[in-house]
Amino acid sequence: MTNKDQIIEQLKKQIQEFTALLTVAKVGKVVEVGDGIARLSGLGECMSQEMLEFENGQFGVALNLEEEAVGAMILGDYLDIKEGDQVKLTGRILEVPVGDGLIGRVVNPLGQALDGKGEIKADKFYPVEKIAPRVIARESVKQPLQTGIKAIDSMIPIGRGQRELIIGDRQTGKTAVAIDTIINQHDQNVICIYVGIGQKQSKVAKIVAKLTEMGAMKYTIVVLAGASDPAALSFIAPYAGCAMGEYFMDQGKDVLVIYDDLSKHAVSYRQIALLLRRPPGREAYPGDIFYLHSRLLERSAKMSAKLGGGSLTALPIIETQSGDVSAYIPTNVISITDGQIYLEADLFYKGIRPALNIGISVSRVGSAAQIKAMKKVAGKLKLSMAQFRELEAFAQFGSDLDEATLKQLNLGRRLTEILKQGQYEPMPVQFQVAIIHAAINGYLDEIKVEDIAKFEKEFQNYLNSNPAARRVLEKIKQVKDLTPEIETELKTVTLEFKKQFVN
Ligand code: ATP
Ligand code: MG
Repeated sequence: MTNKDQIIEQLKKQIQEFTALLTVAKVGKVVEVGDGIARLSGLGECMSQEMLEFENGQFGVALNLEEEAVGAMILGDYLDIKEGDQVKLTGRILEVPVGDGLIGRVVNPLGQALDGKGEIKADKFYPVEKIAPRVIARESVKQPLQTGIKAIDSMIPIGRGQRELIIGDRQTGKTAVAIDTIINQHDQNVICIYVGIGQKQSKVAKIVAKLTEMGAMKYTIVVLAGASDPAALSFIAPYAGCAMGEYFMDQGKDVLVIYDDLSKHAVSYRQIALLLRRPPGREAYPGDIFYLHSRLLERSAKMSAKLGGGSLTALPIIETQSGDVSAYIPTNVISITDGQIYLEADLFYKGIRPALNIGISVSRVGSAAQIKAMKKVAGKLKLSMAQFRELEAFAQFGSDLDEATLKQLNLGRRLTEILKQGQYEPMPVQFQVAIIHAAINGYLDEIKVEDIAKFEKEFQNYLNSNPAARRVLEKIKQVKDLTPEIETELKTVTLEFKKQFVN
């Protein structure tokens, strides 16, 4: 070997050793561990949100990148991790399995099966955190997402790609609205994802049983971070659910994601942030708590036709304390979303269920997506309900009211009855139109308020069984509009049934 070759050999060897040194630098040590958090040393190259693997196979995520150390949350049981354990960088940002294999399954936020039905077959992996689609990639919301709930579809309509907040005290039927919406998607071609954050396992088990019973698991994924799971899992759950939805959206499909609920999500993040010694701010939440939810909800979108035209609709849920919507987290999420469905405990106890406060509930984009037939009946409905609310408060004081006022009150009471709806009974939009049409046009005026529910039930049966009625409903479903002819036919059918009912 010549001298030159020797030098080259030497250099090559040194270079190899040098890269070997680099891989060594990708392994660090646990300096401190406890409460689901670990401080790690020797991981100078660590990326933010990078997945880390501990000596015992457990995974973690790097959150705090400090000069001397890395602060990480541990995904799962931290009791097996000890001081001095080795920890490896994986070079990957936290990701979850996505694909058709998840449909019908119950998984944890890492996409691992919780339902004992075997391993999940993933088509791909998606990062849990992703930058939301830009303005150019989007289109305006124009297709309805039917919840099947009369009060919502008529007055607070939701469009595909919208973010609508469901907010209310505990036990006011928040989850019920979300679950009914999932059940109603059975013929709507929408893939649903229910993300349970810090929920009791028993509660979610009941939800899954109900969804299975109603045939809704066929198009639904349930992501669960239970109340007894570490805060780290609750923290990533909504992002994981969103990533699973984004996969379908990227294929041009429509997706509905429910985050139940973001109050518990904020609390889990606060816990992690305080343990990582990030400075606490208002209500002891870390300073970036707003960004936590905005970066999540911004990922809901209606994509442009060029990009497949898929959509991701988000229904985040927030729990308030005795109706206080001006607390920190509720105001944040209200300001991020395109409207809110406000559920009130008082109404719930009065028996008005869903306990929707129509006065302060809004949907800022959905009415553009409403079908014309619904728009026509809903306009009158909204106006009558608004007048009713004003008069109702006022009428409590006086007994001799003029005829016009009495008429308004009577109509309002009947409309209130009509807007009540049982749980697990979502209603197709053409039925909603028929019933609201009957009420706002005064066809129910002679029927006693107590009998309205019975009337509605029987009317629904009639609409289902009478051939002429079925034809009208089919037309509304097809044409999506209440043209003068269809309206005349609907009126004939309604009056025909009423005659039967009264006798
Ligand atoms: P939590 O704060 O505990 O999560 P929540 O606000 O999600 O409660 P739900 O669990 O949906 O409320 O509902 C509370 C109770 O009200 C349940 O027992 C449910 O069955 C009942 N409920 C909800 N909606 C209706 C309805 N439309 N008609 C009758 N009962 C209902
Ligand atoms: Mg709930």
